[in-house]
Amino acid sequence: MKVIKHSQEVLKVALISEDAQLVKLYDAFQPKEKLLLSEAYRPDSVLFKPITLHSESDWISSHPESTQDFAQFYCDPRRNRPSPQKNRIYVQPIGSFGDSRVSTDIYMKWLKDYCEAFYYGLTVRILSPVPVSHTGCAFRVNEYTHNLQIHAGHLLNYLKKKKPKDAFCIVGVTMIDLYPRDSWNFVFGQASLTEGMGIFSFARYDSDFYSANYKGKLKTTKKLSPADYSVFDGYYTPELSSKLLLRSCKTLTHEIGHIFGLHHCQWLQCVMQGSNHLEEADRRPLDLCPICLRKLQSALGFNIMERYQVLQKWIEDGVNETEAGLSNDGRAALQKPVEAFKESCDWIVKCLHVLQK
Ligand SMILES: [Zn+2]
Ligand SMILES: [Zn+2]
Repeated sequence: MKVIKHSQEVLKVALISEDAQLVKLYDAFQPKEKLLLSEAYRPDSVLFKPITLHSESDWISSHPESTQDFAQFYCDPRRNRPSPQKNRIYVQPIGSFGDSRVSTDIYMKWLKDYCEAFYYGLTVRILSPVPVSHTGCAFRVNEYTHNLQIHAGHLLNYLKKKKPKDAFCIVGVTMIDLYPRDSWNFVFGQASLTEGMGIFSFARYDSDFYSANYKGKLKTTKKLSPADYSVFDGYYTPELSSKLLLRSCKTLTHEIGHIFGLHHCQWLQCVMQGSNHLEEADRRPLDLCPICLRKLQSALGFNIMERYQVLQKWIEDGVNETEAGLSNDGRAALQKPVEAFKESCDWIVKCLHVLQK
């Protein structure tokens, strides 16, 4: 295992910058906010830890990229910025999540509320779910994994037409696996950052996806008729588990982060770290390191403590729902499963402790 350990000085400059104007901007934070942000360069911080590389197939080992500090983000003339006219995040569900329209709506509500807490200050709107047939996209059966896949680029074309005028961005989400072109095996997602669009699949976040008895495998690899979408009727969709919800929240906020102009984080453990495989994606924390948090704060202008409070509330509401629902089995399947968020919740409490000292 390799640890990417930057010096205190390097992290401090990445966070605060050496530009007089940006230092002034940093000084405008409240003392307690600065106390939390400065954990970035505090040796042995328990809140923010260095990135560890576990193998050659981890993202940073296999995809060398340049770093992006706060100043580079802040001064990037090409990055998308929300404006009063374009300040909404739209999410378009494609196909179903869970086995019904009700479960799709509930799952989307969980994601919407999570994204509104993460991108505190922006409004998230869920568009009415559409079946795959509605998008007119190409599809196929993967020749190795034998599951259904839909064409990511065609879905982006569909989203482009649907993007509302007041959208900061529109992102499509689906439980069906994606492929970018015939010669590729699969893709987790595809985005057009300049157009503020992205399409992301959570199919491979199903704990069963790589198992031999994965229920999304089609028994036959017969040629599918391009216009006949009936193969999607009643097609397998995984259980809406806590782990799936955690992975969905991480993916969605990471990808929307790119649309804001945040590059992959190479400073500290952070949800903006690149990930090359599921184990690495699971290893990243749910939230941002101080350097990326400052980037997002400069784009949205939120109060740091309020943002953590809303994130904490999102998790705790799930815990309370579960406790309240114990006597009511009928509703049990639709309660927000937040067990997998326990560690993140404890972490948020520690951050709030610093902010409220
Ligand atoms: Zn990324
Ligand atoms: Zn970061």
